[in-house]
Amino acid sequence: MNIGIIGAGFVGLTFAAVLGSKNINTILLDSDLKKIKQIERGIIPFYEPKLGTLLQKSLKKSLKISTDLDYVVNQCEIIFVTVGTPTRSDGKINLKNIELVIKEISLSLSKSKNIPIIVIKSTVIPKTSETIRKILERNSKKKEGEGFGLVVNPEFLSEGKAVDDTLNPHIIVIGSNEKRAINKIKKFYNKLYKNKIPYFITNSQTAEMIKYANNSFLAAKISFINQLANICQTIPGTNIDDVANAIGIDPRIGNQFLKAGPGYGGSCLPKDLKALILFSKSIGQNPTLLEAVQKTNTEQIINLISLMKKILISLEGKKISILGLSFKENSDDIRESVSINLIKQLLKYKINIIAHDPMAIENTRNEIGNKISYATSIPDALKGSECVIIMTPWKQYSKITNKDFELMKNKIIIDTRRLLTKKKLDGKYYAIGLGFT
Ligand code: NAD
Repeated sequence: MNIGIIGAGFVGLTFAAVLGSKNINTILLDSDLKKIKQIERGIIPFYEPKLGTLLQKSLKKSLKISTDLDYVVNQCEIIFVTVGTPTRSDGKINLKNIELVIKEISLSLSKSKNIPIIVIKSTVIPKTSETIRKILERNSKKKEGEGFGLVVNPEFLSEGKAVDDTLNPHIIVIGSNEKRAINKIKKFYNKLYKNKIPYFITNSQTAEMIKYANNSFLAAKISFINQLANICQTIPGTNIDDVANAIGIDPRIGNQFLKAGPGYGGSCLPKDLKALILFSKSIGQNPTLLEAVQKTNTEQIINLISLMKKILISLEGKKISILGLSFKENSDDIRESVSINLIKQLLKYKINIIAHDPMAIENTRNEIGNKISYATSIPDALKGSECVIIMTPWKQYSKITNKDFELMKNKIIIDTRRLLTKKKLDGKYYAIGLGFT
């Protein structure tokens, strides 16, 4: 059996590398030729732990790279679509990539005798699969269930641990209106995961909704704990991590996504929440809770700047170090990164910013250029600075010592992730969620 994967991003490339490493004949396609050339040489186009080694192993086994969609449609029994579904300028989901791919697939289908199952792994707003079905049927002149199958199979991986998550997902959601397609995809996953992963079988629109429910619930947990962290900050001696750890023991709450910080970012939570809010409104619903989650997140950066103003009195002309640029640790992804957002806001105050990140400097340079300086080591980032803000919880930042802070002009530390709470620090230490006077 041949498997096709269209879209070689975090989701598609990781999935392809995992399948190839398990000797499943896989063909990966992307419209970005530069990316494809890199991947063919075993180079991953972004930082993701374990993925480079896995890709090289897969290329030696059964992973093939292609730019020929007709070939993929002719040769593959199952075609996973993993192209990006970003945000439009009005906040709604941008379905341009996926609609284009589906149109191309349907044109190839019209010339092919193959009857593949098209699996939508990209995150798409409820009822998108209806549009997809119409595009496929119109252009291929074939009917679902006869000329092709259609399945919605959302992805739940986290960047930074994409390989582990793909090797061992917590659930497989399979949504389709056609039993034959469901059974075939279930059989494929059974073989891949040796029956170890729980399934959830439903219809297409529910599968689409499950992905949005999942991400908006995670966003809600983060906004909830961030709001409580802000309250804790005003009660001297209170510690948000103790609060989170205690409530996390309650099985009805669970302990994940309760780490207070500067707000959520990344390529998924902000865009999916925005898309769900606008979709809800478009069908006459009033998503008050979802909007509050989003507002709480946006305000978290404003709260951080207010804290800086309170501590530093004036921001103008100060030299400030930012540690961490990627939206999370173990990633170089800066899409919707709160740290990048903070930098953009701080630049309005004519602040002299020096930033450090173990992996994301190149991406940041592409986004904000030379408006800030970049340091390749933590001591270089701290030298002569009047305040340091720890934004991304990279492991190396928890190892910073008083010796490093000696390099600063003023030892003012704002730790949005509470990485240094257990250390005895010489300077003035403030942390999100720790009550101080
Ligand atoms: P990405 O932006 O990293 O990669 C998307 C890839 O699709 C790019 O390589 C792009 O060149 C390719 N592409 C775009 N249009 C194409 C076309 N017409 N033909 C062929 N290739 C095309 O995206 P990603 O982060 O991998 O996300 C993919 C989807 O999965 C999105 O819908 C996203 O919301 C969802 N998702 C992402 C994550 C995550 O953590 N990144 C997790 C779960 C779900």
